[in-house]
Amino acid sequence: MARAAVPGRLTWQVATLSAARWENPSARTLVLDVPGWPGHLPGQHVDVRLTAPDGYQAQRSYSIASSWPTPDGDRLELTVQRLSDGEVSPYLTDDLPLGGQIELRGPVGGRFVWRPQGTAPVLLVAGGSGVVPLMSMIRTRAVLGDRHPFRLVYSLRSPAELYYGEELRRLASGDADLDVHYAYTRAAPPGWPGRPARLDAAALAEHGWPPESGADCFVCGPAAFVEVVADLLVDAGHDPGRIRTERFGGTT
Ligand SMILES: Cc1cc2nc3c(=O)[nH]c(=O)nc-3n(C[C@H](O)[C@H](O)[C@H](O)COP(=O)(O)OP(=O)(O)OC[C@H]3O[C@@H](n4cnc5c(N)ncnc54)[C@H](O)[C@@H]3O)c2cc1C
Repeated sequence: MARAAVPGRLTWQVATLSAARWENPSARTLVLDVPGWPGHLPGQHVDVRLTAPDGYQAQRSYSIASSWPTPDGDRLELTVQRLSDGEVSPYLTDDLPLGGQIELRGPVGGRFVWRPQGTAPVLLVAGGSGVVPLMSMIRTRAVLGDRHPFRLVYSLRSPAELYYGEELRRLASGDADLDVHYAYTRAAPPGWPGRPARLDAAALAEHGWPPESGADCFVCGPAAFVEVVADLLVDAGHDPGRIRTERFGGTT
């Protein structure tokens, strides 16, 4: 990577919203200018801090969605899912204006990271917004021209909740070593083979890697989803030492 990423650089920095786009009606990608950003490893997150005029502060973690290096200059992207009863996420999705500023520190996290060394294939399993750090891995692999075989199994309730759909389609269509499988739990798109269902052992066996492949597995999403998927992978025979998990909190 062009610059060494420095895990745990815990100094608050001011970040300015330079662009934003909606991934779907409830998730917004924030493109942030962070002067002097040291770089990151795909899978790391940042802490975001908001300060109200009366001095009240709220702090949350958000995974980094963008690659490092980036294809078009230094920038940091986060994708935030609005929780209608949440405190911080509705502000970031609906209220933070272009040119607006927040504080962040990072990158944070040293285990849930993909390093493009070694030869093991990679299995990414996402539940909902858990696709965000996995997308950073997919984007970093693409920017580096890396050819590690990647398989993404992405569980979501319905097509309306998809993140990065067009980009994933484009990346996978030009790359025989990147496979993307969607698992819809409540509503599938028209013509989709099969019925909506929760991810199970059969789906992971069909769309993931066999345990003897020695795959590196990254599982991210709501806590309950991560527990179930990690157990399924262990039960299937995957080496627990190769299963890395990131929990976003909550149970849905
Ligand atoms: C490492 C990491 C990475 C993350 N990455 C992302 C990401 O990329 N994108 C993303 O969208 N999110 C991510 N998250 C989740 C994020 O940090 C926030 O938790 C999320 O945005 C909700 O914050 P909020 O302030 O809107 O909601 P909160 O105000 O924190 O509320 C969250 C939920 O908890 C409930 N709740 C709050 N207080 C209580 C209480 N006292 N009793 C009972 N229930 C309560 C609320 O009803 C709500 O449903 C990540 C989390 C972690 C740990």
